[in-house]
Amino acid sequence: MSILKHSDFNKQKIGLRIATYDKSFYNNKDVENLHEMKLFIISNFKEKGEKSMKKQLLSSKEKEVWICECSKTNDIDEYCESCNKDIFGFKQNEMKPDAIVNYIEQKIELIHEYLK
Ligand SMILES: [Zn+2]
Repeated sequence: MSILKHSDFNKQKIGLRIATYDKSFYNNKDVENLHEMKLFIISNFKEKGEKSMKKQLLSSKEKEVWICECSKTNDIDEYCESCNKDIFGFKQNEMKPDAIVNYIEQKIELIHEYLK
């Protein structure tokens, strides 16, 4: 949790990776900790870029775009053309918060089954 709460975003990313590591055994306290970790990730890893609408050439329609922290404007759902990060500030090969949350949820469910 202390790595996840680090002020340096790159350290926080390392914390996300560590959050997926397994322990050799689990108890109810671990389930509580995993739950806390999950809520923290959901509420703290927000979009860093900004969504916007952009007029298209030769068309009256606007399309949705996002503006990266590095100020480059990109198509929605695409990685930044300039710095290769997504709207959350993650590169393609990095573990994303939503995937980690998914993983933690599955783990909580499994441990619940075993501790019943
Ligand atoms: Zn960028």
